[in-house]
Amino acid sequence: MRGVLFFFALLVAGHCQTLFIGDQVLRITVKSEEQLGLLQSLEEEQDLELDFWLHPISSDLPVDIRVPFASLQTVKVFLESNDIPYSVMIKDVQEVLDKEQSDMEANTMRERNSKSFNFGAYHTLETIYNWMDTLVADHPSLVSKVNIGSSYENRPMYALKFSTGGDKRPAIWIDAGIHSREWVSQATAVWTANKIATDYGRDASLTSLLNNMDIYLMIVTNPDGYVFTHTGNRMWRKTRSRISGSSCRGVDPNRNWDAGFGGPGASKNPCSDSYHGPSAHSEVEVQNVVDLIKSHGNFKAFISIHAYSQLLMYPYGYSCNDVPDAPELDSVGRSAVKALSSLYGTRYQVGSICKIIYQASGGSIDWSYNHGIKYSFAFELRDTGRYGFLLPANQIIPTASETWLALKNIMEYVRDHPY
Ligand SMILES: [Zn+2]
Repeated sequence: MRGVLFFFALLVAGHCQTLFIGDQVLRITVKSEEQLGLLQSLEEEQDLELDFWLHPISSDLPVDIRVPFASLQTVKVFLESNDIPYSVMIKDVQEVLDKEQSDMEANTMRERNSKSFNFGAYHTLETIYNWMDTLVADHPSLVSKVNIGSSYENRPMYALKFSTGGDKRPAIWIDAGIHSREWVSQATAVWTANKIATDYGRDASLTSLLNNMDIYLMIVTNPDGYVFTHTGNRMWRKTRSRISGSSCRGVDPNRNWDAGFGGPGASKNPCSDSYHGPSAHSEVEVQNVVDLIKSHGNFKAFISIHAYSQLLMYPYGYSCNDVPDAPELDSVGRSAVKALSSLYGTRYQVGSICKIIYQASGGSIDWSYNHGIKYSFAFELRDTGRYGFLLPANQIIPTASETWLALKNIMEYVRDHPY
């Protein structure tokens, strides 16, 4: 039966999609430093091909691992024999992916018939780019599309610019999807773009914001990776660049920025999901954003949107030392999270990247902060691990709606505290 299903899945996919039949996502709660060390040693076992969704960093934090079917027995025996508690979060990863895929196909048909766009669905890059053109066409005096350069595989990279005029007004940068598999990030950014466009002129606060500042929103910051999550491997996180001397492809674009580059919390192994790349800004996608930010010269906030874990973080990741603005950033973050939670009660934690998750070097908001953009934040959206990167589409609109309250709260603060 499995074999028949496998074959059928290949036929449906029509191309070489990586399948995850029988893979499970395990949540592990370590009870001691010793158990933490055991999990860290597991991470070194490359033959097991484990995909760490949450890395073993501290005995206070859970560890989530996607375990390939072929390694399940070994891993479970290892955990049980070391008395390490775990639970199965996702029983069969491919089942969840098949559901996601069939939902997307059904939605594509619905959208085609109704000639409308469903914000509560995941979309391909092509559909998102077409939708962006529609948004620009519908709001020509507010929204424009800025081509900031091309990706490694030569796809255009577009930021949506929301502006009511003025030359290089102070501006807010928001990027999503730098890690391609974090689909709720790109989907939230699509919803957010529409929200900004439709609320201008209706919502007094947003209107005053846009009468003083511009907003740049990049929905798909890693377009090659995003396309590959649809056509090749849903679990792809990195860029798609080729690395000389390695058969593995791609660099972790959020370890590639010139901020503590190559330090702790990034890998020098090109096959790792957190490979920092051959040099800072080696990835053209990162370089394009850097060039835009530098040439503009008047960004006052820089916000990166990731998933998952429900966190709102500020610099640094590469160091656990407090940044000079830590107290202010902490209070801005707390106020934003309070606004977010007011909608559905979703709980978020606030803190510096290093203190709240782990030391991670070469991250975007560390670079932007060191570049002089004080209000630098990173979100990790829903959930806390039930579905992880495979958040069901029916949570897109709730996620985007609550996140909007936090984004707006931060932007209002930035508007009211010029520097
Ligand atoms: Zn991420």
